[in-house]
Amino acid sequence: MRKTLIAGNWKMNLDWDEAMTLFANLVKLEAENHINVEVAVFPPSTYLRHFYELKKGRNSGLGIGAQDCSAHESGAYTGETAASMIASVGAQYILVGHSERREYHNESNHSLSDKVIQALKYGLSPVFCCGEKLEDRENENQTFVIDNQLDSTIFNLSEEDFSKVIIAYEPVWAIGTGKTASPEQAQEMHSFIRGLVQSRYGHDVAEKCRILYGGSMKPSNAKELLSQPDVDGGLIGGASLSIKEFAQIIDSSV
Ligand code: PEP
Repeated sequence: MRKTLIAGNWKMNLDWDEAMTLFANLVKLEAENHINVEVAVFPPSTYLRHFYELKKGRNSGLGIGAQDCSAHESGAYTGETAASMIASVGAQYILVGHSERREYHNESNHSLSDKVIQALKYGLSPVFCCGEKLEDRENENQTFVIDNQLDSTIFNLSEEDFSKVIIAYEPVWAIGTGKTASPEQAQEMHSFIRGLVQSRYGHDVAEKCRILYGGSMKPSNAKELLSQPDVDGGLIGGASLSIKEFAQIIDSSV
């Protein structure tokens, strides 16, 4: 049985006060409600240590993660943050290969593979994002694109390492656009991805692999998306910035 993960990608949003308020509200929500799914947030990494202290003080089970890490171990890479540093401030997860990073920072499959290796080395669970662009979808190339994105990155991992990876299927045309994949489109792609995992690592690994959907998930569509058999949770951008909307999405997954 795969445990649902509802993850909020805050991107480059919220100043310190706003972020503290939102995180404190999430901790409160968790304390006052019976939440039997995993919930995690990915704030800007400057907030991670404070969130860690806050959740430790309140005995909270909320997960925290960074939105990216360096492909390098350490050294002269100005502006970058190493996976070891992210782990050392108490994070458990790391987003790797978000489409905004692929597009605006030209992240290659090679550097994404190195990032995953760094994350795993320091005990972080990578949430590895994949997804096709609009023109790929229009040309019916989506399965080819996803196959290629996985085959040249996380499918090079050993079975033991791969088992620590969470996949997020995020069609690029649905991210931040208000357009969502229909539940049928999401299920079709998730089932395709699980099939790829099965061909590479076998049935047991595929059955345990968590595949999240991301792309304009909101309270109005979350229930249907999350009830698809191969959708094991959500990676939520815009709607994770509102405690009300994020709480409704968490509720939809129960
Ligand atoms: C994302 O950034 O991963 C995402 C899915 O964003 P949104 O929910 O805003 O489309």
